[in-house]
Amino acid sequence: MNYSEDKSKAGEYLRLALGYLARYNQPASPINYTVWYEYVSGKNQKLKNAIDSSIQSATPLTDKRMELLYQKFITDGDRIVISKLLTKINLMLREITSHVLETEGDLSGRGNTLRGLSEQIREVHDYEGIKHIVDQMIVETKALIQSGSKLQSRMKISSADLQQLYRELEKSQEEAQTDSLTGLINRRGLEKRFELERIRAKQNNIPFSIIMVDIDHFKKVNDSFGHLVGDSLLRGISKILNNQLRRNDIAARYGGEEFLILLPETDLLGASAVAGKIQKGLSSKEWKLKTSGQSMGCITVSMGISVYSMDESGRDMIKRADDALYMAKNRGRNQMVTQTSLISG
Ligand code: GH3
Ligand code: MG
Ligand code: MG
Repeated sequence: MNYSEDKSKAGEYLRLALGYLARYNQPASPINYTVWYEYVSGKNQKLKNAIDSSIQSATPLTDKRMELLYQKFITDGDRIVISKLLTKINLMLREITSHVLETEGDLSGRGNTLRGLSEQIREVHDYEGIKHIVDQMIVETKALIQSGSKLQSRMKISSADLQQLYRELEKSQEEAQTDSLTGLINRRGLEKRFELERIRAKQNNIPFSIIMVDIDHFKKVNDSFGHLVGDSLLRGISKILNNQLRRNDIAARYGGEEFLILLPETDLLGASAVAGKIQKGLSSKEWKLKTSGQSMGCITVSMGISVYSMDESGRDMIKRADDALYMAKNRGRNQMVTQTSLISG
């Protein structure tokens, strides 16, 4: 995002963005506003295409859809972090190369690989790629330290810097996969673990299950008590979900007020037992406003459960959990439905 346009243009965009908010009957939340601002400024072509196609296909521009558009086309925090890391690596590579040149006079032998790495960096766009480069840099610098005695003292500095860089990289990668509000892993983090679980299930021929959890009437909480209370409730519910899980189970924030729980080596019966515990944990809790102590009553969730069928895609498995969740909502909420009910109706 870069909002450096002149004042009159900015004023015009503001007016247009507000017009769209009104047209689609959306609250003027920072996210909705930013999405429309980007849309009308015409600088974000991909976002514009996505919105135009939603409008053409009459896909409702719900809060959730706007949030997804925002995440997908506007917040590109990763790109910024990655480019910062790449700049750092480039500087380090240059520094190491100059040590080698000063000490040995040329870059023949091992030092030459460092040049190759500088070339490779241009092709890197993601964390995995960076990790691969840093791994090779660590190997190279270690070998260089061992091979040249004069290099030894100078290279130790670079080696320590590299380790530091590696830690930074891991931290950024972790942050990119963590939901900042609840501390749970986010959808992106989940995708990776989901794939791992699919591979493991195939290899060992042991099923795993997922529970899709959606808070009931959450909009009412926001409407009655405000978004901040809603946020704090999301944190509280995340804790309750986490408390019911075993060490290898994973709870992720899947969307606004939706969570996905991944249960390795668990069948439908086992997953239903976990869902039951979640329901029990929630039913015994009365939520109160921190400020006044006023009671908000009980918060319930609806859950849809599916189990992995060998060779199916993750998307199919999630769709079944989603359909089961939809059924749970239709049957009156505050309950779980497993995929078995989808077949038997
Ligand atoms: P249902 O029982 O059918 O699920 O009803 P609901 O009100 O929970 O569902 P709906 O999809 O109508 O509304 C979800 C609400 O969740 C709307 C949205 O503003 C809110 N929400 C999503 N993400 C957040 C968040 O991060 N913080 C807060 N406070 N609210 C959020
Ligand atoms: Mg929902
Ligand atoms: Mg809901």
